[in-house]
Amino acid sequence: MTSDAETPTCSARGCRREAAWMLLWRNPRLHGPERVKRWAACEEHLATLREFLTSRGFPCETEAVPPSGAMG
Ligand SMILES: [Zn+2]
Repeated sequence: MTSDAETPTCSARGCRREAAWMLLWRNPRLHGPERVKRWAACEEHLATLREFLTSRGFPCETEAVPPSGAMG
């Protein structure tokens, strides 16, 4: 198998599941608009991670991760 786009793993602590979502966020106090951090999230932890960010007032966007094996 050759795959140069590995499916990211969920960023939640202790979670090893494949990510279905990508959270794009930044800390406006530290980062300029061009500096975007990316967190991977599985279905289960998407809400948790997004709440963590939005509760701190960080701008946050959600992007779907294409399922693995969907190439070509
Ligand atoms: Zn997870």
